[in-house]
Amino acid sequence: MTRSPRLPDRPVIVRTRFAPSPTGPLHLGHAYSALLAHDMARAEGGNFLLRIEDIDQTRARPEWEDLIYEDLTWLGLTWDGPVMRQSDRMPVYAAALDALWARHLLYPCTCTRRDIAEAMNAPQEGTPPAIGPDGPVYPGTCRAHAPKGPDLLSRPTGQHLRLDMGHAGMVCEHHVLEDEDDHWGLMFLETGPTHRGQIFTSLGRFQREIGDIVLSRRDFATSYHLSVVIDDAAQDITHVVRGEDLFEATPIHVLLQRLLGLPTPVYHHHRLIRDETGKRLAKRNDACAIRTYRDEGFTPADIRRMVGLPEG
Ligand code: GLU
Ligand code: ZN
Repeated sequence: MTRSPRLPDRPVIVRTRFAPSPTGPLHLGHAYSALLAHDMARAEGGNFLLRIEDIDQTRARPEWEDLIYEDLTWLGLTWDGPVMRQSDRMPVYAAALDALWARHLLYPCTCTRRDIAEAMNAPQEGTPPAIGPDGPVYPGTCRAHAPKGPDLLSRPTGQHLRLDMGHAGMVCEHHVLEDEDDHWGLMFLETGPTHRGQIFTSLGRFQREIGDIVLSRRDFATSYHLSVVIDDAAQDITHVVRGEDLFEATPIHVLLQRLLGLPTPVYHHHRLIRDETGKRLAKRNDACAIRTYRDEGFTPADIRRMVGLPEG
């Protein structure tokens, strides 16, 4: 890989973000994520930004969004600049999908969950199907016979569009690095407690263990992966601070950054906050909702203590 040395055009200011989905009340785990991202930025004299990830309009509710602002303000957090709302940005995602489509990187998929399960259960030699960050690795049924790219038709809507991972690997080829075992792949820097270091994902692993992921959904014409990558870049995020549950999705994000010509931030995947029984907190778990603690007379300092953060 050749890369000419280039001086940054401006001093690097640390910019972190909190990107909740307004589909339920924030709980202790969200508070930890937001406080950590906020503290990391403020400690460096940097910026902390807020983004509302509301692409799934069947699940997002304005009252949950209002509660996010209320809870964060109560926690003592301030954010810089306007709040970004993903539901306002569908044309931006559409433009990115058009560009990927024009490069033959996407194909329509009409498989139902059932079709996929059946294709995976069909007798075949080799290893059992892998489970990727988005669930079972897609068996590729629609890839072979699907129209791809601009020659045949304009980008279809109203159906899933999948990323052709084999082709994506080829397109990325001049961005790949070689690891010590002579594998080609993509790299990102992780600073979180569990996986700290340079994280390498070989192109082979992308195909075998992640597969042709859905980038635009039948019901809403984007996906978490596509939107998060585009918006982290749009908000100039330098450090993505988020829960460890998203660690496995990060190679997908790095790949999309290469395909879309976007920078790769540093990633910090933090430990997850668990309840007394050791279970991960879920949005439905109202007992751990920040609002419940507020109503019961807890203070923001109590919340910081409960998630193991120093006083703000
Ligand atoms: N919106 C995602 C969530 O609430 C977080 C996305 C991210 O931090 O990358 O789980
Ligand atoms: Zn299909």
